[in-house]
Amino acid sequence: MEKNVNILTGVRPTGSLTIANYLGAVKPLLELQNSGEEPLLFVADLHAITDYEPEQVKQYIRELVADYLALGVDPEKTTIYVQSVIKGQIMTLSAYLARLTTVAELLRVPTIKDKIKHGQSAESANALLFFYPVLMAADILIQRAKSIPVGEDQVAHLETTRVLAERFNKKYGEIFPIPKVTQVKSLRILSLKGDGKMSKSSPEGAIFLTDTLEEAEKKIKRAQTAGDKEMTPSLESLLLIVKMLDSTEEEQKRADDIIVRHKNGEQVMGEFKDLAIEIVKRFLTRFQTKRKEVLADPTYIDKVLEQGNDFARKNADETMVMVEKAMYGN
Ligand code: ATP
Ligand code: MG
Repeated sequence: MEKNVNILTGVRPTGSLTIANYLGAVKPLLELQNSGEEPLLFVADLHAITDYEPEQVKQYIRELVADYLALGVDPEKTTIYVQSVIKGQIMTLSAYLARLTTVAELLRVPTIKDKIKHGQSAESANALLFFYPVLMAADILIQRAKSIPVGEDQVAHLETTRVLAERFNKKYGEIFPIPKVTQVKSLRILSLKGDGKMSKSSPEGAIFLTDTLEEAEKKIKRAQTAGDKEMTPSLESLLLIVKMLDSTEEEQKRADDIIVRHKNGEQVMGEFKDLAIEIVKRFLTRFQTKRKEVLADPTYIDKVLEQGNDFARKNADETMVMVEKAMYGN
């Protein structure tokens, strides 16, 4: 089967997903898939072991795939593979790419600069984190992907990929397509506790896809909103959840109407939270039912991965043959 790899995206298996991960990362992927694209999705377990124990990461791989399938990723359209099934090829390509960059260039990459900002010296950063942009370049180039959808925070990393591809091509011939960066609308769902963004690592302010309905309800009841007539980032963010979490048009209108009444001074935050609870509970129920179905056949995930892994392996091997021919000659 010939497949023209256009879009590649990766996700680190580091824990259960939150509704913010769904809205910010999975939903845009579903939109691509449902618009007729055939994206490649890889589970980035080699990236995850930068700061998580390999044994733990291994356990999260299947969980993550189950989550994505239950959320609507269709393996007939989206090819899913595990990064480490081509670890030899990726590491080899990383080495070939690393010789085309310098330590100084890698030190200027934002993840490392952030470490310095946070008071750590670049020298004390995990060396695999330091290597991350090169590894990422290898992930993308080994599949000869043409388009990479990323959030704003990843744009600088992709620049390294583009630069390395250009340098390689200039030296050894046109092997790699230069990947285009397509930016997904950056969406930032806030923590329900009003302290920064919603993330897996601060569970009290996050709604996990695996939360029970009672847990989710409790978290929303305690969520920050806004005082009389005002709009706060917390309330805006809750409104985004209500409107984007697969709600009906009628519910979206109801939400807008409640906000109008709130701005007019009516006491409607209770009503607003009830609507949010209804929508979140329905979403979680659907997801959890679907997830059970996905896991009901214990071989289903294996089959999906086998198919995706085969494709990724073949494509990676093909690339490596081209790369080594170009570099070493025949
Ligand atoms: P961690 O606390 O481990 O960093 P996280 O919840 O921030 O976990 P990531 O693994 O960093 O999740 O990100 C996974 C994907 O989810 C990324 O594509 C990211 O853009 C998206 N994402 C994460 N947090 C949010 C958020 N608050 N709003 C929208 N999208 C988000
Ligand atoms: Mg994060």
